[in-house]
Amino acid sequence: DQTVHATIKERLKEIFGFSQFRGDQEAIIHSILAGRNTFVIMPTGAGKSLCYQLPAIVSEGTAVVISPLIALMKNQVDQLNAFGINAQFLNSTLSKAEMNKVKKDTLNGSLKLLYIAPESLTKEENLDFLKKANISFVAIDEAHCISEWGHDFRPEYRKIRGIVDNIGNLPVIALTATATPKVQQDIQKNLQMEEADLYKTSFNRKNLYYEIKPKVDAKKQLIKYVKQNKGKSGIVYCLSRKTVEEIAELLNVNDVKALPYHAGLDPQTRMNNQDAFLNEDVDVICATIAFGMGIDKPDVRFVIHYDAPKSLEGYYQETGRSGRDGLEGNCVMFYSYDDIVKLEKFNKDKPVTERDNAKHLLAEMVSYANLGVCRRRQLLGYFGEYLEKDCGYCDNCVKPTEKFKVQHEVVLALQT
Ligand code: ADP
Ligand code: MG
Repeated sequence: DQTVHATIKERLKEIFGFSQFRGDQEAIIHSILAGRNTFVIMPTGAGKSLCYQLPAIVSEGTAVVISPLIALMKNQVDQLNAFGINAQFLNSTLSKAEMNKVKKDTLNGSLKLLYIAPESLTKEENLDFLKKANISFVAIDEAHCISEWGHDFRPEYRKIRGIVDNIGNLPVIALTATATPKVQQDIQKNLQMEEADLYKTSFNRKNLYYEIKPKVDAKKQLIKYVKQNKGKSGIVYCLSRKTVEEIAELLNVNDVKALPYHAGLDPQTRMNNQDAFLNEDVDVICATIAFGMGIDKPDVRFVIHYDAPKSLEGYYQETGRSGRDGLEGNCVMFYSYDDIVKLEKFNKDKPVTERDNAKHLLAEMVSYANLGVCRRRQLLGYFGEYLEKDCGYCDNCVKPTEKFKVQHEVVLALQT
């Protein structure tokens, strides 16, 4: 164990260039290397990828990494390749020749990480090939996609357990940045991982400043804000593709370099715009929630919700993309009741089974936006964490309103 210990620490430095593990990373890596099922709940930016990347590199064979988005896979594969690690993805964007190369490298054992979307995983031909390969372990990233109580449910994610069992008896590491206690239980049950080693760290992102502004003259407010933060990287989230385009255009005519990102753009444009943001050819990306999951840009200085988000889980994830380097991160939401009415209308179009949950998630968001209570206290409370003291670093703490005191007492009473 001493040698393993030395090796992974050496490899951390050698490959990733880091001299220290962060938080529970080392313990998590040992857990997975010991072949134990491992469940990791750590906030965005905590460094979850390393928890499976490093053990994949030091293990024999290939680790399978299940990931919900192509952009996300590409981001990690590019990074690993730049570090000299053989990592590749298997998804619908590959040509036949590329697909064959991936399979060859897996079967001859030279591939260390194979990224795959759950949709590709369920394909018969891929399953047959995975059965023949030497798989070290399975990592399920963004594991909250498993739960229908969460904000980003993907039905195919619920099939993963069955498929993994089909491939072989493999250790599983599941990772997510958002799980309310209810979602956590649901994930563990679905993955049959009730007995897994659990690593859950605080959701408190101390360097993020949370603020909600009434949505009046929002365009003016937005331009002013972005101009005041000229040269800094930021994300502006909008509800619709149309608004995304409109706001990107608005920023451009106001002398701010911005690009749009949404699922309506063709994949190449989407990738180019993402790269332009990551490479700092533009300062701002205007996006729907299609942008950002797993995207690793450490120095995003602000995240603006131009429209209200659908859930606190989404809000927490999206705001969490700022200040990943531990430095300044400003999170501004423009809030109006009109937006809530719009979101409620969308919910009405959902299948009955999803409607109640969507309604519940939205209600929690509305309560967060309206209460005068410390934002951090509310957010952490939502994820099952209790904050001893008000944070002193959100709009409600810094500029409390009149109604603040009363509501504060009410909420504290509800918490006990
Ligand atoms: P998560 O998936 O938890 O949101 P990532 O895996 O994308 O986070 O990592 C966030 C950032 O932290 C990345 O830039 C990554 O390189 C960096 N990082 C991870 N582990 C360490 C470490 N031990 N020391 C320094 N930086 C780290
Ligand atoms: Mg991640």
